Amino acid sequence: MKKTIEDIEVQNKRVLLRVDFNVPLDENGKITDDTRIKKEVPTIKYLLSKGAKLIICSHLGRPDGKVVPSLSLEPLIKKLVSIFPTIKIKFAFDCVGPQVEKLAKELKSGEILLLENLRFHIEEEKNDPIFAKKLAKLADFYVDDAFGTAHRNHASISGVARLLPSAVGFLMGKEVNTILGVLENPVRPFVVVLGGAKVSDKIYMVLNLIKKADVILIGGGMAYTFLKAKGYEIGNSLIDEENVELAKELLIEAESKKVKIVLPVDHKCGTAFSSDVKAKRYKTKKFPKGYIGMDIGPKTISIFTRYLKKARTIIWNGPMGVFEFEQFSQGTEKVARAVARNKKAKAIVGGGDSIASLKLLELDKKIYHISTGGGASLKLFEGSILPGVEVIDNKEENE
Ligand code: AMP
Repeated sequence: MKKTIEDIEVQNKRVLLRVDFNVPLDENGKITDDTRIKKEVPTIKYLLSKGAKLIICSHLGRPDGKVVPSLSLEPLIKKLVSIFPTIKIKFAFDCVGPQVEKLAKELKSGEILLLENLRFHIEEEKNDPIFAKKLAKLADFYVDDAFGTAHRNHASISGVARLLPSAVGFLMGKEVNTILGVLENPVRPFVVVLGGAKVSDKIYMVLNLIKKADVILIGGGMAYTFLKAKGYEIGNSLIDEENVELAKELLIEAESKKVKIVLPVDHKCGTAFSSDVKAKRYKTKKFPKGYIGMDIGPKTISIFTRYLKKARTIIWNGPMGVFEFEQFSQGTEKVARAVARNKKAKAIVGGGDSIASLKLLELDKKIYHISTGGGASLKLFEGSILPGVEVIDNKEENE
């Protein structure tokens, strides 16, 4: 078990808090979605209530080591002031160096210093040890609450944690403990639903989940690599040729472990990848040449929803079709509804599109856990260790 902020004594101590404030901004620097900031409020509130001198750092966008004014974190000050109106909040126009060190030293208990975008320095993404040392110089403690970047080996993530006493914040703790808790001890039946387009991103998740799940439902663009592996005609559907062999091995492995991998038995297809193409239904066994499979068909929807109804643990990542086109959005919508309707199951949903479809249907509040970090949650589902978590101090025996 990793130390959490409840295990460290922060009164009058400078705490460097790594957050994920990588928020979308419009051309005037206005925040268009402040979810990531709001999710951080409990950790910030807790640390301030315990008398910490809080130094907050984050990346924003991809400035690639250059100072890009449109990617400055300064506009976030206004937002933080509106959330914490009684707290003194300062901004540092850099994240390391003598001036920032001076500001950090002057900070009083219960105050916040927000640092400029970490990625204005190329050393951040290179995990440069000297840059990590400069960051560490600012504080007495390091707290990592940036789950969205926990799979990255960057200076402000794995570098600093090695140099200071460390702990995870509430957001990181909840993400890691919820996901690992479900993976270690799933209530059965444990049903996984995978979709989307990037097979290479998710195939290792299948590899690990075969060891844990009872049923793996595969829809979306992913399904066609598996159908091809089974020898089916897939027309012009999305295919990841490089992973067909691995898909074949996974199908054999699943069978030997008595894990069901369920593939679509029918499809909504189009003749072109276009929003105005007509959707036609075909069975897997009669997939026509020249067509693209763009959504799971009605029979598949009914099979998938039947499994989801019985499930007691669910993991869902990726849309069932090209849901951006209305005529191919049914599969994703029906799966979203089936996941949300099952009140007896602990469901974990990750991936931007799956979350967006739940939000659109106003079903997101019904889900046990919506993961804030797509890439990081995929790594956990794959069974990988996150660099941002690995380096955090372990709890002592009697804690
Ligand atoms: P991912 O990031 O891997 O979850 O992929 C999400 C994308 O997959 C969405 O933009 C969908 O439009 C796309 N997608 C889902 N099903 C299909 C399909 N059958 N063919 C092509 N793209 C698909």
